[in-house]
Amino acid sequence: MKHKTIEIFLFIDALGWKIVTDHQFLTGLLPFRKKTGMQFGYSSSAIPTILSGRTPAEHGHLGLFRFAPEASPFKTLSRLAFLFTPAAFWDRGRVRHHLSLLLKKYYGFTGYFQLYRMPLWKLKFMDYCEKQDLFTARGMAPVANLHDTLTARGVKFHISDWHLSDKENYLAAEKAIENGKNFLFVYTASLDGLLHDRVGDFQVVRRKLDEIRQQVESLYQKAEKHAEKVHFTIISDHGMTPLAGTVDVMGAMAESGLVFGKDYGACYDSTMARFYYLTEKAAQVIPRVMQSFPGRFLSKEEEIRYGIYRADRIFGDSIFLLDAGIQIVPSDMGGKPLNGMHGFIPENEHSFAAALSNEALPEKLEQVADYFDLMIERAEQL
Ligand SMILES: [Zn+2]
Repeated sequence: MKHKTIEIFLFIDALGWKIVTDHQFLTGLLPFRKKTGMQFGYSSSAIPTILSGRTPAEHGHLGLFRFAPEASPFKTLSRLAFLFTPAAFWDRGRVRHHLSLLLKKYYGFTGYFQLYRMPLWKLKFMDYCEKQDLFTARGMAPVANLHDTLTARGVKFHISDWHLSDKENYLAAEKAIENGKNFLFVYTASLDGLLHDRVGDFQVVRRKLDEIRQQVESLYQKAEKHAEKVHFTIISDHGMTPLAGTVDVMGAMAESGLVFGKDYGACYDSTMARFYYLTEKAAQVIPRVMQSFPGRFLSKEEEIRYGIYRADRIFGDSIFLLDAGIQIVPSDMGGKPLNGMHGFIPENEHSFAAALSNEALPEKLEQVADYFDLMIERAEQL
């Protein structure tokens, strides 16, 4: 039996509007195209926004870590930090990757968990946002996610397992179609990894987009065999801004005379420093220290506009955003700059996300946060 319609939403991490237009990506198959405003932050805030239609202010995910000593699950581990010597060994990428896997298992986290470069002694001050698998049933409770919403509506759906490779996820999607599913949310992340390294290499990016085009066409053709009509929509979360320089914010803070955990708390993402003021002195000194860096503190109005304003200030008392292209190095995320990074100001030309479809896209689709309503509206028409 053929479905009337199969609805496919393909998520491609970091497929920004700039790259889509520079490469005229899939203009023939997907002629309805919209430049969409990215969700402020990086994937850790964009993915929960896409999966729920809520902003970080509502779902509570901005960076992966937040300064919250009272809520930290890592207190014991941090006390044992002295055992992890020499530091140079435990700071190695592969070692930290394995340690992350071990901790993920130990704490029973089902979400995406990586320590990145967060020092072990600092962990006791930190809470981690993505403890749950956001993609599965009740993964964002009490907020309803895509899985919950489609289930409640009785949709025959398939949502990718984000642990799998892109290739595996395309295969799983084809299998789901064979098994009678007619709503698919397919997750792919390998373009993001490539662009962090090769954003400036036009030919390399072109080859990768060609590979994606073939995967899209193959999935499309598969769906065509099982439905009278295929609605195919590609959505992304943000673009990729080329490296323009680095700044040593952590170094400057170490020399500020303020004590971490006593005077202030901070989370250093690649593109922003989020400060928590624990003393009056910190509230005076930190803005002075940051004056010398290329960037600025977000105003309350901007935080509201970007969907990240919270009265409880769990994302930080003040957020310093670096100018587009300037990376904080070292940060909690890494010790070296990457050739491309996301998470700068949404108005930067490299920041914009994209929605591409073979069906007309609604006027009201303007931001990453609007994808969710589109997905649900389309699912309700099946
Ligand atoms: Zn990335």
